[in-house]
Amino acid sequence: MSSSPADLVRQFHLAFGLDAPATPTEVSPRLAAHRGELLAEEAAEVAEVSVSGPLDRLAHELADVVYVAYGTALVHGIDLDAVIAEIHRSNMTKLGPDGSVARRADGKVLKGEHYRAPDVSAVLERQGWIPDGGVSCHAPAHSP
Ligand SMILES: [Mg+2]
Repeated sequence: MSSSPADLVRQFHLAFGLDAPATPTEVSPRLAAHRGELLAEEAAEVAEVSVSGPLDRLAHELADVVYVAYGTALVHGIDLDAVIAEIHRSNMTKLGPDGSVARRADGKVLKGEHYRAPDVSAVLERQGWIPDGGVSCHAPAHSP
């Protein structure tokens, strides 16, 4: 098994009997809220150590955020690697054709005139998601 975050978190979910549907799936409001709370807790821990450190604590909390984010994607049946690839594709269009980069005063890279927004819906539809809760007749079968 590879050591990509998606594979590692899938291994965790299978070991602990957590949901991991094979296609993008709406979950119960209770589970959705629980996942949101877990991620908020980890994000707060990153904020807490971002300035004061130490560096090993920051690394730990950043990894926790990624781990929980992948877990949240997994319980929703989302292949997050594919979504990240789409976000990356979009982000790279912030670079002008001449290599120019527009930045905000704090250094954040801004969207230029060649920017193309990510199409996350299309990515999820390729994974079998039907917007507004429909059921795809082409979706692969769910795991047992
Ligand atoms: Mg933590």
